[in-house]
Amino acid sequence: MTSMPTAEAPQILASVRPTIAIVGRPNVGKSTLFNRITGTRQAITDGQPGITRDRIYGLAEWAGRRFTLVDTGGMVPRSVDEIETEVHAQAEIAVRDADLVVMLCDATEGLTGLDQEVGDMLRKRNQPCVLVLNKVDHPDSTRYDTSEFYRLGLGEPLTVSAATGRRSGDLLDAIVARFDKLGLGDGDEIREDEIRIVIAGRPNVGKSTLMNRLAGQSVSIVHDSPGTTRDATDIRIERNGRRYVLVDTAGQRRRSKINESVEYFSVLRASRNIERSHVVILLLDATEGVTVQDARIMNHVIDSGKAMLVAVNKWDLKSDRSADPDAPKADIEEYTRDMLHCFPFLRDFPWLFLSALTGRRASRCLDLAANVHAAATQRISTSELNRWVEGVTQRVDPSAGGKEVRLLYLTQVETAPPTFLVFCNRPDLVSNAYRRYVENELRKSFEFGGTPVRLVWRSTRSRQARKLGE
Ligand code: GDP
Ligand code: GDP
Repeated sequence: MTSMPTAEAPQILASVRPTIAIVGRPNVGKSTLFNRITGTRQAITDGQPGITRDRIYGLAEWAGRRFTLVDTGGMVPRSVDEIETEVHAQAEIAVRDADLVVMLCDATEGLTGLDQEVGDMLRKRNQPCVLVLNKVDHPDSTRYDTSEFYRLGLGEPLTVSAATGRRSGDLLDAIVARFDKLGLGDGDEIREDEIRIVIAGRPNVGKSTLMNRLAGQSVSIVHDSPGTTRDATDIRIERNGRRYVLVDTAGQRRRSKINESVEYFSVLRASRNIERSHVVILLLDATEGVTVQDARIMNHVIDSGKAMLVAVNKWDLKSDRSADPDAPKADIEEYTRDMLHCFPFLRDFPWLFLSALTGRRASRCLDLAANVHAAATQRISTSELNRWVEGVTQRVDPSAGGKEVRLLYLTQVETAPPTFLVFCNRPDLVSNAYRRYVENELRKSFEFGGTPVRLVWRSTRSRQARKLGE
């Protein structure tokens, strides 16, 4: 029996290429296959009634190769239903952005007209594609008439049962073999000396304007994934001797032209770009206050564990005194206070008030991005942490309810985001307030402004127990 690939926590992955999109008409089993391969399910839902897509992108690994899988909405070409049409349009874009497409059909229903239309679209685009027939649950494949699917012109179909997992390992082998054929490497080649930045924000906050403003200083434009037809464009810029990459600028420009009423696609795109980046610039509109959509994007960025800065755009409109460098300070304080009241967690991130349109303070984004990146990637030695934890526990004793609680030691196991294991004799007795205290002290003592920090509490007893059991 083949073991299924494991899904990884996205924040640990620096790269998520290549990308595979699963497409097909509704009900062929796209979500089932997606779940089978990624092994996890985490809801990203859209607030709009009528559309609730569960998680639409996931990270997976097979035979040591990592990739991103995208579960597109069902493709219904020429539908008159507004939502179906939109979902179809979004799936088309997902297809265009994918390195490889899995075209899924239902073997038990035979080839349908809709399958043919989707297949035609893929063939016309010369899209690298694997044809897969799902719901082949029974080992006796002669029960299924697969011959008609050759008519799609997409090559020899593979058969799987997404529901039972039958032959899904063979499918993954085929996918990995295609990566090699297409020259797709294992993930992005992220250069260590470059800081990859993505600008996240709802439509109209000024993402494209800021991109263009920053790109004005660009040193080169890089088309990624050589050998494929993707048109994503990263822009490499240099400032104060440092290199930055603005991730997926083309997507950003393109996006403003398409209808973003279906939120899930924006979330998908943003997710992918966030995964590919080191630093997220969370862009807000000074004139509009924070919307539900902003809050959702914010949560998404926080969950991703990426370093972040909060950039409040259109500040030129907020204060007609903006020409006077001292005057807007009161406005800034008021705005910040109101925001922190609603979103207290934003206090851990640096703020910038700018105008992408006039360019005022826009390039400060880059300096702040460098700062938060440095915070996210720093490593604190275990000996330093041990000295530190002594002071922390002396100031406030973790013991609770008459029971002795001791923090034995801390060790940093990851950067970006900085992640610490806290070994404790009784983590079950440590209150949330105490956990917050430790995190806050850690932030205060070391330079963690602009990055999430994760503390994982471990019991020393279970650790010893595990050791004994080894
Ligand atoms: P999607 O609309 O393409 O995402 O399809 P879903 O994943 O929601 O699946 C549609 C239906 O087909 C569900 O009732 C699934 O349980 C069923 N299904 C999916 N995969 C298989 C399979 O391999 N075998 C069988 N028998 N049913 C399946
Ligand atoms: P996107 O959808 O987030 O990419 O937003 P755009 O960059 O397309 O900007 C939306 C609108 O806001 C455009 O009309 C821009 O000219 C305007 N805009 C962007 N930044 C600023 C700014 O700093 N000040 C003002 N006054 N308008 C801005």
